[in-house]
Amino acid sequence: MPATAQNLRDLHTLHQRARALRDRLSSGPRTLAARQAAQAARQAELDASRKTLQDAKVRVQKLEHTLKAIESKIDDLKVKLNQVKKNDEYKALQNQIAHDNNARSKAEEDILVALEDVETRTAEIARQEADFKRTAAEVAALQQQLESQSAQHKDQLRELETAIKEAETAIPEVHRDHYRRIVARYGADALAACEDNSCHGCYTAVTPQMINELMNGEAQIFCLSCGRLLYLTEPNAVLTQRTAK
Ligand SMILES: [Zn+2]
Repeated sequence: MPATAQNLRDLHTLHQRARALRDRLSSGPRTLAARQAAQAARQAELDASRKTLQDAKVRVQKLEHTLKAIESKIDDLKVKLNQVKKNDEYKALQNQIAHDNNARSKAEEDILVALEDVETRTAEIARQEADFKRTAAEVAALQQQLESQSAQHKDQLRELETAIKEAETAIPEVHRDHYRRIVARYGADALAACEDNSCHGCYTAVTPQMINELMNGEAQIFCLSCGRLLYLTEPNAVLTQRTAK
């Protein structure tokens, strides 16, 4: 006895449910890996920002050091200015002091710019850190969700695989090898509905004789074009259409 249309419809459904579960089981880890990679990139970005902030702070310290050196030099020059007697020496010192005053102004301006830079970078890092914390929590939640779902889906898949093996026993021994080959080739869609007189796997017309055989349920019918195991969608569906003609 060949497998009935109902046997084959059920088997096809089981295959499709198993495929959907396998897809979910493989897509979850891929999504997680992508999120983890993005998180690692954020960490690297944050590390780089912290390093740049550190450099900016060192720059402020160096500029402050330079400013102090200029100021003490100016103080020394002012002491000397009070001690010199010759006019040309006095003028030379005055020129030097004027020059150093310019240098001091320049250093003060540089310090202000550098401090502003530190402030901007500090704010940016705070933003990055908040962002990092939020996304890290999201990645952890996703991982936890996938782990619990994965165990559940694996159980369901094992149950489906058992059900498929059981449902496959409806296919007569003589057709099993052919069935295995088409499963290896088409996976979950190794079976196809025969609808509107054509195979729903490849949309090639099915001969009237094959449709008769499908309705009579006396033979196992495979599509002549793609080799899929055919079944009628609903009992009497084709019969009704044929009667209407
Ligand atoms: Zn076909």
